[in-house]
Amino acid sequence: MKNGVVIVGAGHGGVQAAASLREEGYDGPVILLGEEAELPYHKPPLSKTFIKDAEAKPQPLRGEAFYTGNNIDLRAGTLVERIDLAARRLELAGGGALPFDRLVLATGSRPRALPLPGAGLAGVVSLRSLADARVIREVSGRVEDAVIIGGGFIGLEIAATLRAAGRNVTVVEATDRLLGRAVAPVLAAHVHRRLEAMGVQVLTGTTVARLDEEGGHVVAAVLASGKRLPAQLVVIGIGVVPNVELAQAAGLAVANGIKVDPRMRTSAEQILAVGDAVNYRHWFTGADVRLESVQNATDQARLAARTILGHEDTYAAVPWFWSDIGDMKLQMVGLALGGDRHVVTGDAAENRFSVYHYAGDRLIAIESVNRPGDHMLGRKMLGAGFSPAPGLAVAGPEALKAAFAEFQQGNPAAATG
Ligand code: FAD
Repeated sequence: MKNGVVIVGAGHGGVQAAASLREEGYDGPVILLGEEAELPYHKPPLSKTFIKDAEAKPQPLRGEAFYTGNNIDLRAGTLVERIDLAARRLELAGGGALPFDRLVLATGSRPRALPLPGAGLAGVVSLRSLADARVIREVSGRVEDAVIIGGGFIGLEIAATLRAAGRNVTVVEATDRLLGRAVAPVLAAHVHRRLEAMGVQVLTGTTVARLDEEGGHVVAAVLASGKRLPAQLVVIGIGVVPNVELAQAAGLAVANGIKVDPRMRTSAEQILAVGDAVNYRHWFTGADVRLESVQNATDQARLAARTILGHEDTYAAVPWFWSDIGDMKLQMVGLALGGDRHVVTGDAAENRFSVYHYAGDRLIAIESVNRPGDHMLGRKMLGAGFSPAPGLAVAGPEALKAAFAEFQQGNPAAATG
């Protein structure tokens, strides 16, 4: 393959794809194109540690020496404008073109826009990139009041971080609870209570109607009720949309993400896709999903590299995710979609508990707050296809570990409880 593999998007998926190609023994050209003029960096710290510390540096995904040492041609600051499928060539912003033999799309996602009067004012920002995080850090360092629109993971992480830094913070969520798309109501209610205990004002079932300005800078968020919340910083965090435009314009199949098969191949033979931008039938639930997590992007990238090298294994990674909201480490493993009951173990009053989700008799997901042991055991159990009875989950980690050991020794009757 003389033109080699070109990867579009130098985020979590793209960088892992490049690394895995080399780890798997690919010795042709690997070209990694990223729109941002930065050494590729970890995104999760942006909403957690980076914005609270004026001295914090971005955390590179890999050091510069990694790219040179592995002969990976990283071209930061390169925006791809079009895929010419017939010619197997990319058209770059500024006029250049780049041929490819195989292409990996790792274009990620971008914040969903909120068509709100005032959304374009200074002091109004959505967080996706290091550049956005720098704006939030700079503005939040010199203002008193922040309004976060949207009660999802990123919004709540920012809310807790800014509150800990002494800002007055209000979260405005349109639906009747926080983390609606992501976790069980019991866990969302816990996060809600805990944020309030930290001094964050949480308004659910409420929308922002407009943002008011003075001198081009936001000064207040005005609710649909007419109530005015002072705000010199407004963070809009109402979810993301996948970056599918390149794929769509090239005629690839797209439906809430670039469609890929279990080997990460798109509808065009030479093109694979990974990460936030892709939609696929998940082996775990049988449903079509588009997941937004580091695990999803990196495991898919590893598999895409193997597919390029001719391996035929299919995607079978256990999905997991984490979020740090104030003093809560939230960890999710599995997919709760389709669950019909759950049991809770641990103590919410101590800020340490886990929610085990079942679909019928099958354990499908575990959501934990400050119980990393439950999460790690959960990853192993779900990966092995082990479904302990709910009573065992409630009995606690020691009983679960013992049952799982029985299961691994080929004694499933003793194991499931
Ligand atoms: P990205 O890492 O977003 O990379 C895509 C890259 O492609 C971007 O850099 C973009 O600039 C580039 N690109 C797009 N189009 C083009 C083009 N046409 N030409 C060139 N370059 C292009 N996940 C977790 O599991 N846990 C967390 O705690 C967590 N916290 C997060 C906090 C924040 C603030 C954010 C923003 C995300 C967080 N995530 C977290 C989600 C996680 O970062 C994403 O799921 C992951 O980055 C997806 O990887 P990706 O490679 O698909 O996309």
